[in-house]
Amino acid sequence: MKIADIQDDIAYELVSKEQIDAKIHEVAAEVDRDYAGRTPLLVAVLKGAVNTLAAFSQAVSIPVTMDFMSISTYGSGTESSGKITVRQDLSTDVRGRHILIVEDIIDSGITLDWLIKELKSRGAASVEVFALLEKPARHKVHIDVKYKGFTIPDEFVVGFGLDYDERYRNLDSIAVLDPKVYQGDQQ
Ligand code: 5GP
Ligand code: MG
Ligand code: MG
Repeated sequence: MKIADIQDDIAYELVSKEQIDAKIHEVAAEVDRDYAGRTPLLVAVLKGAVNTLAAFSQAVSIPVTMDFMSISTYGSGTESSGKITVRQDLSTDVRGRHILIVEDIIDSGITLDWLIKELKSRGAASVEVFALLEKPARHKVHIDVKYKGFTIPDEFVVGFGLDYDERYRNLDSIAVLDPKVYQGDQQ
């Protein structure tokens, strides 16, 4: 799906398909150098990171393995409370593995902070992060992100895996929704 297909729902495009593609290839080249001779395990948190993982895994030249985790964070409204439940766990034994977590977006950072600690406690040899998007204004915990994509303002974005009410994940770029899309839901 392209911006033109949902023009009425979109306020503006924030990151184009071409920009995403260029950034992913730039990070992939760095990862190729840093992990030469190793086979890192790419870990994605469902569902938002799936598009980034798919594109990134094809852009690297080194061998990788991939696994997925489904996590829920409970909290009031849109704020993460830090209470985390694993809905679907990895099927990989991470002991001794070099893990690269591939994330769609870091908002509060609470989910990712928990995941990094969890993977280390399971015996991973190393844990690094590639985050396609980051909203520094919203960070509540500090996370060392080794591979950074784009820094974005405090706006709710959709596309390239990111949803609003499960929609827009299949948009091929990243965009800010028109507020009328949410207002229609507030009755
Ligand atoms: P946090 O960093 O607060 O623990 O949670 C990050 C998760 O919140 C992301 O993986 C994503 O699912 C969701 N999220 C945060 N900001 C946005 C946004 O701007 N748009 C969408 N669609 N989801 C977001
Ligand atoms: Mg995510
Ligand atoms: Mg979501």
